[in-house]
Amino acid sequence: MSITVQDRATEKTRGGALRSGPTGGMDAHGVDLSANPADRIEKTTCYMCACRCGINVYLKDDKVRYIEGNRDHPVNKGVLCGKGSAGIMQHYSPARLKAPMIRVGPRGSGEFKEISWEEALKTATGWLAKVRADDPRKLAFFTGRDQSQSLTGWWAIKYGTPNYAAHGGFCSVNMAAAGLYTFGGSFWEFGEPDWEHAKYFVLFGVAEDHASNPIKIGLGKLKARGAKMVSVNPIRTGYNAIADEWVGIRPGTDGAFVGALIHELLRTQRIDLDYLVRYTNAPWLVIESPGAADHGMFVRDEKGIALAFDKLLGKLVPAEGPDVVPQLSGAVTLQDGRNAVPVFQKIAERYLGDEYSPERAEAECGVPAETTRRIADEIAKVAFEQTVTLDIPWTDIHGRRHEKMVGRPVAMHAMRGISAHSNGFHTCRLIHILQILLGSIDVPGGFRYKPPYPKEIPPRIKPTGKPGQVNANEPLPGPHLGFPTAPGDLLIDAAGTPQRIDKAYSWDAPLAAHGMMHMVIANASRGDPYPIDTLFMYMANMSWNSSMNVPDTLRGLTDKNPETGEYKIPRIIYSDAFYSEMVPYADLILPDTTYLERWDCISILDRPISEPDAACDSIRHPIVEPDRDVRPFQSVLLDLGARLKLPGLVKEDGSPQFPGGYADYIVNHERAPGIGPLAGWRGNGDSFGKGAPNPDQLNRYIANGGFHAHHLPPSQHYFKHANKEYLDWAASVGFRAADAKMTFQLYCEPLQAFRLAAQGHGPVQPPEMHRQRIATYFDPLPFWYQPFEGTMVDTAEFPMHAITQRPMHMYHSWGSQNAWLRQITGQNRLYLSRTRGKALGVADDDWVWISSHLGRVRCQVRLMDGVNDLTAWTWNAIGKRRGAWGLSDDAPEATRGFLLNHLISELLPEKGGYRYSNSDPITGQAAWYDLRVKIEKAAPEAVEESAPYFEPLADPVGRPRPAVLNYGAAFKEPAE
Ligand code: SF4
Repeated sequence: MSITVQDRATEKTRGGALRSGPTGGMDAHGVDLSANPADRIEKTTCYMCACRCGINVYLKDDKVRYIEGNRDHPVNKGVLCGKGSAGIMQHYSPARLKAPMIRVGPRGSGEFKEISWEEALKTATGWLAKVRADDPRKLAFFTGRDQSQSLTGWWAIKYGTPNYAAHGGFCSVNMAAAGLYTFGGSFWEFGEPDWEHAKYFVLFGVAEDHASNPIKIGLGKLKARGAKMVSVNPIRTGYNAIADEWVGIRPGTDGAFVGALIHELLRTQRIDLDYLVRYTNAPWLVIESPGAADHGMFVRDEKGIALAFDKLLGKLVPAEGPDVVPQLSGAVTLQDGRNAVPVFQKIAERYLGDEYSPERAEAECGVPAETTRRIADEIAKVAFEQTVTLDIPWTDIHGRRHEKMVGRPVAMHAMRGISAHSNGFHTCRLIHILQILLGSIDVPGGFRYKPPYPKEIPPRIKPTGKPGQVNANEPLPGPHLGFPTAPGDLLIDAAGTPQRIDKAYSWDAPLAAHGMMHMVIANASRGDPYPIDTLFMYMANMSWNSSMNVPDTLRGLTDKNPETGEYKIPRIIYSDAFYSEMVPYADLILPDTTYLERWDCISILDRPISEPDAACDSIRHPIVEPDRDVRPFQSVLLDLGARLKLPGLVKEDGSPQFPGGYADYIVNHERAPGIGPLAGWRGNGDSFGKGAPNPDQLNRYIANGGFHAHHLPPSQHYFKHANKEYLDWAASVGFRAADAKMTFQLYCEPLQAFRLAAQGHGPVQPPEMHRQRIATYFDPLPFWYQPFEGTMVDTAEFPMHAITQRPMHMYHSWGSQNAWLRQITGQNRLYLSRTRGKALGVADDDWVWISSHLGRVRCQVRLMDGVNDLTAWTWNAIGKRRGAWGLSDDAPEATRGFLLNHLISELLPEKGGYRYSNSDPITGQAAWYDLRVKIEKAAPEAVEESAPYFEPLADPVGRPRPAVLNYGAAFKEPAE
């Protein structure tokens, strides 16, 4: 919806006061600072980070003048962060690509020539058609943090390659997968703390500003109510700096700390047994028969229904029945004479052991045992003595009516600091189990699901790409990414060889639910497990800050086959809006638009923007015409699909199915009958979720400020996993299958199925080399173990941990060079504690070498309080390569900025003749934060610059690289 300036002048704030815009006249640079710097205001969705806030964009003469938050938007409610307002400079970045290009010099040289779109699309179609007709596996199609994965994944299915994923494998798949296998949700897009009612909040491993505005708003609410906030993080910056208590834990040891909290809650018998009986598999019986093929599996009846022992009836009964009075401890003798024990008994045995005592945690985490005991006590007191009761009647899945909603007001949130370790999956499960033991999932004051969550536990969908499922010129018969529950679901051949180029869903990483993008270039360049022909990527800076081991990644991108002289990855197609470090390493460049120049769809089929009380989705729409020869990637992908004649992308007569590009697809594509990318205003405009395509749908979104929110009635606000009214509605709109099971899986039987295979049971077993690893890590109850790198390198030589985070003003800002934001941070430093600095003999701005088993980096240090003494850290992705991002060669980002990526190996050291990826053994999540380092003061050098040195990248089109970017100067009328 366009708003005229006149409309705006009379628009009132919620508080009733007139809003005023920036005031003043022209400043010294000729920038218009007047009250109404716009002739129209467009409402759309921010893309400066992953939060997807609503924004009002002020435009004058079709130039972007000002961005503010949309007060009506469900995500940010008017709040705008520094990144969001700096979107102007992203849009006018000098690094924007200007036209399609084809490489004319060697890879990495940056020598390109501009070509027409027709030539670019013909070239891409030729390459892709040949691969599809030969062996579709030879296309690897991977995208970064784009927000159109429901489209890109669907396109890859129609193309027929199994090699598709987005960035989740190198971001936070541990958090997502652990949650989905445990309680059908997770944090971030899946759910959030009950900001309105929580009284105690624990924040684990959340960097600086992850989930920016929503968390800031939430923390503000907590602080206003006086709720206690505890931060568990090696670094006390960002959100952690406003915590009431900071637990400066050692990286990678959070699982030991959470295990000790569970130990204390069990020891003091402060857990919610009623909640466990009602909503979890705590009463389910587990077969105790070591050596048998069903050892550790649930006792089930002939229909496969899990059983519990009813104490009143004195017999086995279906565990999920409404009135079961289950035995939770001890053992039960089965009819065949074997023993079985309830899951809760196994939990008690595991976590009451000395291994999870606060003293053991202290030895690993550095957190005093007394602190752990006190925090456990505080949590228990709030959970059990300060319950929150809402007078809202609701009905459970058994049809029982409850007059009130009663909750335990302890909430938690965790993210990548927990997730990006090789023990991350189990640590995430431990955090989820801690919440469940307290009875705080989807209750007032606890964690709250956001629709369409909760999902079935785990979701029923299986990965596709087994032998026989990938055929020339055919689509895949199913989706790429799913949730294996047994070895038969893996994408391997009879010999156990991985079928995907990233080795996801193989014995290397059986539950790799987001793929393993961090391994694609390394594996493809080694031809392991097979060579590919074309690497097609979107919005992923894989030759720089998104890859482990940058020098080796560059080698992988440029290595040639000595016999043929051809690159080992023969063709690389890349789409990006900016001249990032990745562009010079591609052969064909498809330039994307900025987020203000295109359609986008933030779909409930993908990663929606829902709130706990409302199912929401949103759009972006073009509010500025591109002034360059660029096209939106999503429309280009649809065009390529039509040229390739992919099923679903062409009509019967061979013409494009979506001639109107992405907007056409958003409105008219149906994933299932009546279900499309946008859930709002379907059918004749009054249907939500399911309904025929509505040609007026996008207009309705634009008129509503770019989003749709379907508000849930209060009776559906909590207990969504067991709330009949909510679950029936969720099934009616396609969010879940009607028979989906929602019982929380404290004990994860699928993991035991893999462990049994490793112990020699079942038709699909791991090759000998993988057996011990699978048997060890596929434990159905979570456990803490040392991150791998620390067990494989000499920790006497590399005594410190090194981790990274993005600065608050650049968090998740993947198009990461911005003229305004770089004025806040143009150079990163290595942060150390003051005591560590003293021990090393270094002071602020001294140069040091930081070394890992892989290599070393030279950089400057800063000393600080508020960092774990064994931890060094820095801002990620500040360091840039000379020549990229439109920066001058002497920009501080290039001369003094640095990346720790050069120190992080994509492979673990060799063991038993094999090198596993540097990842979690269950999900394949990249273990960025396992890095072990040593730090030494550097000798003075003639030129004080960071190292290693990378040759400057050439600018392919002679683009000016202005030393100073004057915002608005270009808008001025030229002088007479
Ligand atoms: S950058 Fe992120 S948090 Fe900031 S306004 Fe944009 S979407 Fe919201």
